[in-house]
Amino acid sequence: MTGRTHDLAAFTALNLVFLAEMSPPDISLATFAAAIGSNMIGGLLPDIDNATSDIWDKVRGGSVLGKMIKPLVGKHRMLSHSLLGMAIIGFLSEWFLKWLNTVVLVDMNIVWWALMIGYASHLITDSLTKQGVPWLFPFPIRFGIPPFEFMRMKTGGIIEKSVVFPGLLFLNGYLIYRNYEQYVIFFKRYLE
Ligand SMILES: [Zn+2]
Repeated sequence: MTGRTHDLAAFTALNLVFLAEMSPPDISLATFAAAIGSNMIGGLLPDIDNATSDIWDKVRGGSVLGKMIKPLVGKHRMLSHSLLGMAIIGFLSEWFLKWLNTVVLVDMNIVWWALMIGYASHLITDSLTKQGVPWLFPFPIRFGIPPFEFMRMKTGGIIEKSVVFPGLLFLNGYLIYRNYEQYVIFFKRYLE
């Protein structure tokens, strides 16, 4: 999947979790902004193993940094595209956010969850592509949805561009339309 699709999928997942909550979380505007940002980072983070991926384009000097990090995480879609990699990122980011919390006053618990939701959405959407995802790395088997490779789509291909991406856009539009009041309740407090 391309970075653009991952961004949108991460946001969609966050949106779904938000709507699944019985009551909208009572968070500051700063926490909200930080959660949106960390959700986007989480959605791109598994591709740190790909020196040419979008996540590196977003940082200055990123392509050089990408080439330095690549040997540490292995070939594309290995450790970072697995439950083990997700757990490692979960621990490291929890530690990092705790440290950051000494200078930045936002609800880091929410920020951490937003990151993890983005990360999980990346692994799920990559599972829809031909290459599949080694969910149980170092166990060397790649899983996909649907399970047969020929039924899955090509990264950046016509299905991703004309079905998945617009489909996610439509889903978000539909969710916002159907649950309008919940968003109003959530955003109203920022206007008071
Ligand atoms: Zn990926």
